[in-house]
Amino acid sequence: MAIKAVLVDMGGVILEMDNSRGFPFERLDFRGREALLHLIRHRGGHASLDDLERLVFEPWHLGYERRRETGKEEPWGPHLTRLRKKAGIRALNLTLLEAWFRPYGEQLVPIGGAVEALDSLRSSGFRLSLVSNVPLPGKLYCGVLRRHGILDWFQSLHFSYDAGSRKPSPAMLRSALGELGVRPTEAIMVGDRRPNDVAAGRAAGTATVWVRSDDGGGPAADYDVDSLAEVPGLLGS
Ligand SMILES: [Mg+2]
Repeated sequence: MAIKAVLVDMGGVILEMDNSRGFPFERLDFRGREALLHLIRHRGGHASLDDLERLVFEPWHLGYERRRETGKEEPWGPHLTRLRKKAGIRALNLTLLEAWFRPYGEQLVPIGGAVEALDSLRSSGFRLSLVSNVPLPGKLYCGVLRRHGILDWFQSLHFSYDAGSRKPSPAMLRSALGELGVRPTEAIMVGDRRPNDVAAGRAAGTATVWVRSDDGGGPAADYDVDSLAEVPGLLGS
């Protein structure tokens, strides 16, 4: 294969992040909401856990459940605007989301062998792009990747929340190919969700690798592996 670039999914391939969500849940959601309320109080505002649920999280979740139909991530802006109004504070959306995300983000860690695999690929001269469906601004996940020392290894970053398009649309992959300056046939898409990652790769015209998971209902990939750690060997790196 004359592969020059590797487009990599994040959740379930690079980071262990409870791939069905990619956002704070259960205990970490509660801790994040407490942190968000603390921030609001610190800024002289007032809100309760009930306000957060009613004004922000419940309506956001309703939109989030429609993401596959709309092909876009549910925006946080309208929900956070209601919260700011109720709380009587001024704060950036990203600041508020960062407070909620932090307890979750702090416990996100790379999957075994993933960092070494990325390092091997870039050392061998492959160009790397991150192409990820996420329900929150990419900056939050960039903080996690930076903490693990791998953010700068990617020549381009594509997060669905910011891109306004999510896999299985090939739009983010096409942007990545453009930024890397490679043809589709010179790239391979690696992801753990066949309906999203493999379908997007096929639509963009790249080769595809499926990292085996329980989400295998979509189209078959060119290669199946158990983890990213196998990809350098697959590409002769
Ligand atoms: Mg994934």
